[in-house]
Amino acid sequence: MIDLNHGSGFQYERPERPPGIGIAVNAAIDAALVERSRAEPPRRYVSTSGLGRECLRQIQYDYLAVPKDEGREFEPNTLRIFEAGHRAEDVVAAWLRAAGFDLRTARSDGLQFGFSVLNGRFRGHIDGCLVGGPVAMAYPALWENKAVGAAPWKEIVKRGVVLARPIYAAQIALYQAYLDLPNPALFTALNRDTFELHCELVTFNAALAQRASDRAVEIVRASEAQELLPSAAVNRSSAICRGGWSGGEWHAPCAWQDRCWRAAS
Ligand code: SF4
Repeated sequence: MIDLNHGSGFQYERPERPPGIGIAVNAAIDAALVERSRAEPPRRYVSTSGLGRECLRQIQYDYLAVPKDEGREFEPNTLRIFEAGHRAEDVVAAWLRAAGFDLRTARSDGLQFGFSVLNGRFRGHIDGCLVGGPVAMAYPALWENKAVGAAPWKEIVKRGVVLARPIYAAQIALYQAYLDLPNPALFTALNRDTFELHCELVTFNAALAQRASDRAVEIVRASEAQELLPSAAVNRSSAICRGGWSGGEWHAPCAWQDRCWRAAS
């Protein structure tokens, strides 16, 4: 019922709020997200997004679409975060355009710009390319965006993306190399909690791009030869495998821990 004496704090009856409605709605959303994720065909190429990970074997499992350990599929909560990250890209792109940047994010056929080498077995797709704008910087420049939680965002602001997130730095270097965009890239990090935007220019690191590219070649070559690449950890309690901090870097839990350590025993 409408409270005509708005602001009085008085309500004729409590708002309708059946217990469990949130649980039921979220469960339905989670089920739909999981179903959609399972229906997606596996990626059959080495992707730039994971090449900076520490363990070559882990990247190889991913490339070969080896089934993840039971119970280690992406949680619905992670799928929500992935989707929010993709959509955040559109939000930041719109902000940049509103500010007067000439930002190109898609080809005339609507697909993202990117590269494909090794007969399509190594690919990457960029967020965009800035070809002009109101800020004094060298154009054209790669644009790469990430949406992150408050804690990693603060860390990126404090240390810069190269030190705080080497995986992102490798991805940026690869794009600059393969898309022939050697000018400093504009990296933006959106704080998912406050919507603050961190911006920094990332100088092209040719050596890093070469190292990352060599890793992609090694993964494709070993997989063709049916060789299992070496693991980066000496035991499965390592942060590289179970997830956590190691050597100043954050590692997500590996989805193939059981398979990997079974193979080692
Ligand atoms: S469990 Fe550890 S060593 Fe094995 S593939 Fe995963 S990260 Fe690499």
